[in-house]
Amino acid sequence: MEKIFSVITNSEEETMAVAEKLASTVGKGVVFTLKGDLGAGKTRFVKGFVKGVGSSDLVTSPTFTLLNVYEGGKCPIYHFDMYRLSSAQEAEELGFNEYFDLKSLDGIVLLEWPEQVEGLVKCPHIEIELQKLDGDRRKIIVGAEK
Ligand code: ADP
Ligand code: MG
Repeated sequence: MEKIFSVITNSEEETMAVAEKLASTVGKGVVFTLKGDLGAGKTRFVKGFVKGVGSSDLVTSPTFTLLNVYEGGKCPIYHFDMYRLSSAQEAEELGFNEYFDLKSLDGIVLLEWPEQVEGLVKCPHIEIELQKLDGDRRKIIVGAEK
């Protein structure tokens, strides 16, 4: 990963605010992967991001549905959680390939647990890594993955 910048947040509200600001700078056709341990704040980040695109849809963890779609903002948000999958092939068999073609993507993808589906996201994307520090502190690293 080629690091672009990193920031430290001290609360979930701060993490959401970072994501909200980031969302205001991007449009459809962008893919983000979100790495980090359970409880690092990936889903909180998505919550802030969805607010930032102007959607008031409720953000929940798509652990069982694998994909949630949030509408009503400047473009749809496709929120994946690959925690329960164990290969890119499984994701491809579910037809998820179409979301990782930047030419046809009509929204923004936010994908939790890319490690579970290594090789699925072949298009250029932005990699976000959330690291748990002490207490409520988190380090958010933003990088480019080509
Ligand atoms: P993940 O999706 O990475 O498993 P969640 O976003 O579901 O994690 O949960 C993150 C948890 O950590 C929440 O309970 C949240 O309140 C807490 N938290 C504490 N500090 C932070 C922070 N700085 N940023 C994000 N979440 C935080
Ligand atoms: Mg999550």
